[in-house]
Amino acid sequence: PQVANQIAAGEVVERPASAVKELVENSIDAGAAAVTVRVEGAGKRRIEVDDDGFGMGAADAALALQRHATSKIESSEDLHRIASHGFRGEALPSIASVSRFRMQTALAGASEGIEVRVDGGGETVVRPAAPRRGTRIEVLDLFLNTPARLNFMRSDKTEEAAIIDVFRALALANPPVAMRLEVDGRTRLEYPVQAERARVLAIMGDQFADNCIEQVIEHDGMRISAWLGLPTFHHRDSNRMMFLVNGRVIRDKQLIAALRAGYRDVIFHDRYPVAVIRIEIDPADVDINVHPAKREVKFKSPQSVSAGIVACVRAGIERMGQ
Ligand code: ADP
Ligand code: MG
Repeated sequence: PQVANQIAAGEVVERPASAVKELVENSIDAGAAAVTVRVEGAGKRRIEVDDDGFGMGAADAALALQRHATSKIESSEDLHRIASHGFRGEALPSIASVSRFRMQTALAGASEGIEVRVDGGGETVVRPAAPRRGTRIEVLDLFLNTPARLNFMRSDKTEEAAIIDVFRALALANPPVAMRLEVDGRTRLEYPVQAERARVLAIMGDQFADNCIEQVIEHDGMRISAWLGLPTFHHRDSNRMMFLVNGRVIRDKQLIAALRAGYRDVIFHDRYPVAVIRIEIDPADVDINVHPAKREVKFKSPQSVSAGIVACVRAGIERMGQ
């Protein structure tokens, strides 16, 4: 099983940022109202995710470290209409197989908590601990036993930037959750519980807030809500375009192309618009189960989604001109 876990780890955790993503999504799935992420050494040395979610009892805590032991699917039917982020039960065992893993958790009102430790995919040690609210997971020395992965990691600056990107995306997708990111002991990003609009603008920044227009359209049974940066507010960096599909941040070449096509006449071809596009679509018309890292989706009708985005941007640009 250790080898299987390490192979899965290569799929699920490519770098510190992917571990951050998996852990925070678990916290959100656990109903957390507040999530704090602390990283040190660009997440290579230490990642900590602390939540106030519903926690785990002793049996579940041990089970959580076993492969495919997700608590989130009851039937294969669920795979098609999945609401939670996790649905494979691979993240925790994968992470624990390539790090020194520590978890403290407790159920609400329990008189005792649990601590779980795994070192580099070795034996899972479960011990009683002080009761607490929610779950705290610490990932130390990521990739300590997989030198190939370790060598593959980029500079601290790059890995840290990737963590910040992932954190912002998670914050964008979860306005009702208070979220804080600490990097080497300093608060880098902090969002209180917010309404969606306030969260979007907080993440995109004041400059964007002053230079964007909001546009909502219905298209082919989808609802597309957009915060569209003015054409003068373009950027060299394509990461300033963010897409949410049914509450999940995704990255999709076709959606990026559609957004740029909408802006085609008003932004130079070597620049990217700055925008947040939120798509609500019938879950039956989108497959989110494409890759374990889950940044990609497959639409039943990609042309229709692209056309919707173009129409939305066009409508927004028309209003900007007025
Ligand atoms: P998945 O999220 O796909 O179910 P994971 O490996 O990420 O698989 O997590 C395994 C299980 O551990 C989850 O199904 C859940 O029951 C439990 N779990 C993980 N993180 C938390 C958390 N922060 N709070 C409560 N339960 C958690
Ligand atoms: Mg998970």
